[in-house]
Amino acid sequence: MAIEFRGVSKRYPDGTAAVEDFSVLMPAHKTTVLVGSSGSGKTTLLRMINRLVDPTGGVITIDDEPISERDPVTLRRGIGYVLQNAGLLPHFSVVDNIATVPVLNGVAKAKARERALELMDVVGLERGLAKRYPSQLSGGQQQRVGVARALAVDPNILLMDEPFGAVDPIVRRELQTETLRLQEELDKTIVFVTHDIDEAFLLGDQVVILEKGARIAQIGSPSEIIENPASDFVADFIGVERGTRALRAKRTARGTVLVDDAGRTQGVLVEDEL
Ligand code: ADP
Ligand code: MG
Repeated sequence: MAIEFRGVSKRYPDGTAAVEDFSVLMPAHKTTVLVGSSGSGKTTLLRMINRLVDPTGGVITIDDEPISERDPVTLRRGIGYVLQNAGLLPHFSVVDNIATVPVLNGVAKAKARERALELMDVVGLERGLAKRYPSQLSGGQQQRVGVARALAVDPNILLMDEPFGAVDPIVRRELQTETLRLQEELDKTIVFVTHDIDEAFLLGDQVVILEKGARIAQIGSPSEIIENPASDFVADFIGVERGTRALRAKRTARGTVLVDDAGRTQGVLVEDEL
């Protein structure tokens, strides 16, 4: 499902202009990454999509339908939301954390648990962990549970707010690779928020670089931005924050490969069947 922001603003009651006149089309079945420093308005943009925050100006549509006319609860049933700290319920086991929302939506408990186990396979968690509590898992495993839980409602749209911010770099890389695999397999419309430009270039089909007030510094594919930074701000942002061997995903005729800055292939993620 395509998400469109048209002239969207958000001014919080205390007067903070978090988002000023933001317009972007987020195409269906693609990943749009919103990247910017802390306070640039990323979370506000994300939370407007599932109506946890309502705009003070402009229009947001999903498949051309204004979401302001949608009931927030029904709207959220079609949207998965993954948070930085995974946001798991501490007194629920892994399987019940994943099954919570479907059960609230009226799915029979046994059926929801069976689906939860399947989702553990999807996100690469051993089923043997099903009965553990969140505190008995590593940070990376908790994040996978968070992703499984977001997928449990079978959403068309997946919102991810700095989901890998709290894990160490090696686990982070693993989760990023896993996310690329999920993108290929599940084909959702994903909106991914990060302050890490490497992560943005790796995961984004479309990358939106934000300044304060969610003003767009540049929007484009990773290669468009890398090859043609629109301003000194963008050049600084991608230069200073980027490692020397930043990898990004590139779709080729035969599948998806990882390429480095110089465009050299560093590995194969998904090989299409011939
Ligand atoms: P980011 O996710 O990029 O760090 P946020 O969307 O959280 O940015 O915040 C954007 C701006 O809005 C910041 O200045 C922040 O302090 C402010 N802000 C966020 N939430 C609220 C709120 N509930 N009330 C007032 N100001 C807020
Ligand atoms: Mg945020």
